[in-house]
Amino acid sequence: MDCPSGHGKMVLRKAKQRMTFRGVKVIVPIEQYRCTVCGAEAGTVNQAARIQKSIADAYRKAVNLLTGEKKLLSLKKS
Ligand SMILES: [Zn+2]
Repeated sequence: MDCPSGHGKMVLRKAKQRMTFRGVKVIVPIEQYRCTVCGAEAGTVNQAARIQKSIADAYRKAVNLLTGEKKLLSLKKS
């Protein structure tokens, strides 16, 4: 992918983004193209779909963790 301002190839950058999904805080790994000259960022449709999946996965993990803690608590009580 080339920079829209004509700076040539953009580099793929991996990052982690914190966001809140359905009231649960999740950290989602994202991939984004970034121009090293002007800092313009762009993603692809494909990446957007993958981010959606990553959010869903991170959300599921976070919820499972919460559910697991609750189970542990109820085990201690009984
Ligand atoms: Zn640029």
